[in-house]
Amino acid sequence: MTDTLATDIPATDPTARSAAADLQAALDAAVARYRAAHPASARQFEAAEQVLPGGNTRSVLFQQPFPPTMVRGQGCWLWDADGHRLLDGLGEFTAGLYGHSAAPIRQAIVDALDGGLSLSSHTRREVELAREITRRFASMELLRFTNSGTEANLLALAAAVAHTGRHQVMVFDGAYHGGVLAFGNAAASVNVPHDWVRVPYNDLAAATDAAHRPGTELAAILVEPMLGSGGCVPGTAAFLHGLQALAREQGALLILDEVMTSRLSPGGRQAQLGLQPDLTTLGKYFGGGLSFGAFGGRRDVMQRFDPRRPDALAHAGTFNNNVLSMAAGLAGLRELWTPEACAALNARGERLRDTCNDLARRRGVALMFSGLGSLMNLHATSQAPLRPSDLAGTDARAKDLLFFALLERGVYIARRGLVALSLPFGDAEVDQFCAAFDDALAAHQDVLPRSA
Ligand code: PMP
Repeated sequence: MTDTLATDIPATDPTARSAAADLQAALDAAVARYRAAHPASARQFEAAEQVLPGGNTRSVLFQQPFPPTMVRGQGCWLWDADGHRLLDGLGEFTAGLYGHSAAPIRQAIVDALDGGLSLSSHTRREVELAREITRRFASMELLRFTNSGTEANLLALAAAVAHTGRHQVMVFDGAYHGGVLAFGNAAASVNVPHDWVRVPYNDLAAATDAAHRPGTELAAILVEPMLGSGGCVPGTAAFLHGLQALAREQGALLILDEVMTSRLSPGGRQAQLGLQPDLTTLGKYFGGGLSFGAFGGRRDVMQRFDPRRPDALAHAGTFNNNVLSMAAGLAGLRELWTPEACAALNARGERLRDTCNDLARRRGVALMFSGLGSLMNLHATSQAPLRPSDLAGTDARAKDLLFFALLERGVYIARRGLVALSLPFGDAEVDQFCAAFDDALAAHQDVLPRSA
């Protein structure tokens, strides 16, 4: 393993070449400081490599030269194995909405444990949680639980194929719907073999053309209202409403993947935009921080899963209604995720994003956060992207450098730039994050790309 993360300097003119070389040198120095400050994480990584390929069991968490090992969390704070206390700006890639071990969730888990795990039948809690969710998401007349967002999307697609008798599914470049439903640029894909029709995001004309191409018969259009893993790129209202109309016109189902965006309002992004998807998929925080997924929507579509029907679709899963996820999810929705808490968290996210973007602008640095509410992603550009291809040619090392610079200042975000605030992340933490961001810019502004 080398400390150098990228050696290509994609510049031809001498000034740009030397700026790029300076950026590489700054990054190499940051990585060297990271190594020096994380000996325990390095040792832990060496142990991990013995039993896990690349020391890793969840691809997104891997990073060069080795990831930090986290040992504890409380509120919106994390502690790594090397004794650093870090402001948690990542919030478990949005699943950590409630922060670390919020008291009502902790209590609900303890109470559930007292009643026994693995009850081997229907329980009351799954009905209560389903009721809380359908109350918030008007389009979800009936739903079923899964163990992850990936499974929720797999089952929603199965429902669409069964309902329409068709096999093609429209998806969007840069979309992520799960480990086996990823539409980025990865060379090797482990995707499930649906008949995919891939189209650029936020391009209704391209979607319409593709749907009208002779021989195309769509079972579903599967779309995130904002590309999450694709860089927090919001879908425009015109694009999303256009897809809804296109799905209706084509006799296909619109599946809205709100695994990430459901937190933008109590009824998700669909409530904000007035969308009425045929099916919706959920995941992440709805399990109170435990493993979770759900898919649901139109009664006539979901009723195919009624086991009393002779043509019922099977949907198995030992842990679909597991006692702990149901209990923790219920406590979160009932006691913590109030409409007021939701609005305040998203307002804090807007403030953080606006403040950081303003700081970068003032320093003339081409860095910005795109996103909505409490969800955002850092990019090495000063122009908000409309689709991931707009980011081609931006220098990922600038984001890498910011990642290490923020970490050195006690702030943890995703290496790829994702920030997802949690409920305990308050105004003081927003201020602290922005101060660390400005300090990081000040330290590195000479080597970071300049805004045009
Ligand atoms: N859909 C979206 C939009 C997601 O962001 C994710 C996870 N990042 C998933 C689906 C998959 O969820 P899980 O990781 O729970 O399988």
